[in-house]
Amino acid sequence: MVATIIDGKELAKEMRSELKKEVEQLKEKGVTPGLAIILVGNNPASLSYIKGKQKASEEIGVSFKLEHLEESISQEELLEVIEKYNQDDRYDGILVQLPLPDHIDETAVIEKISPEKDVDGFHPINVGRMMTGQDAFLPCTPAGIVEMIKSANIEIPGKHVVVVGRSNIVGKPVGQLLLNENATVTYCHSKTKNLREHTIQGDILIVAVGRPHFIGADHIKEGAVVIDVGVNRLENGKLVGDVKFDEAKEKASAITPVPGGVGPMTITMLVYNTVKSAKKRVRP
Ligand code: NDP
Repeated sequence: MVATIIDGKELAKEMRSELKKEVEQLKEKGVTPGLAIILVGNNPASLSYIKGKQKASEEIGVSFKLEHLEESISQEELLEVIEKYNQDDRYDGILVQLPLPDHIDETAVIEKISPEKDVDGFHPINVGRMMTGQDAFLPCTPAGIVEMIKSANIEIPGKHVVVVGRSNIVGKPVGQLLLNENATVTYCHSKTKNLREHTIQGDILIVAVGRPHFIGADHIKEGAVVIDVGVNRLENGKLVGDVKFDEAKEKASAITPVPGGVGPMTITMLVYNTVKSAKKRVRP
């Protein structure tokens, strides 16, 4: 079997063009969606991610503001900056780029963002709403993964989903979203024994570990759908996922590439959440 490639770049392009139309309609009603990103320090990876977020926002017509703060800013000052954006009606979405410097408490920062503007979906209120199946800002990478699976016409109810990785931003929430879609979900992590015995059972295998080429064809059930979330830069500068793509695509029925898979969808879902938030400003 040779797998269908689930093209995240193409799906993101389609979603962005739909979002652009929605933004035009919102602007006719006097609402310009706004996204504020707060960056502390100069982490090169963060700067590169933010560039992608800015490009997507501007392409869709969302007004974009980068608040770039000194590495040395105190936690209290950072919380004040967040509060300023909480109060500023021009911004429907606020995102604090992670990771933060060690002297700042990430939890306090996430909890300071108004849940109504938490377009990353990391605030415990949104996490709780997601867990209980209520309307919420869904975290971008997991929400993008669900969109990709659905776009490929893959049935989710009743499927056995195996998630490798249990981070708060990818592994845990993607399992929860697929549980909400009536999948049967198994989580694996660094303490899991005999990993292969679990992964080989997955009708849908989601890998979010952060180790290049960690999962090979021998971990994959024949005909499985494989979603590779990992983004790893090799010493030669090449970007690769957590899955050995070349051999996995011979065994899977569908697979996401790296790059051009989950990444473009993550950024698109961020703008989607910002537009969703802006809709609340439209007066009936
Ligand atoms: P984390 O480092 O937060 O989590 C990694 C997870 O992998 C942990 O749950 C860890 O287990 C698990 N793990 C580590 N080693 C093993 C092992 N030997 N066997 C099984 N599980 C293991 O990473 P993230 O979730 O933030 O990101 C994962 C990857 O996805 C990274 O490459 C990241 O760059 C990428 N990513 C891509 C995005 C995109 O848009 N494409 C967005 C976000 C992330 P334990 O909990 O026990 O430590």
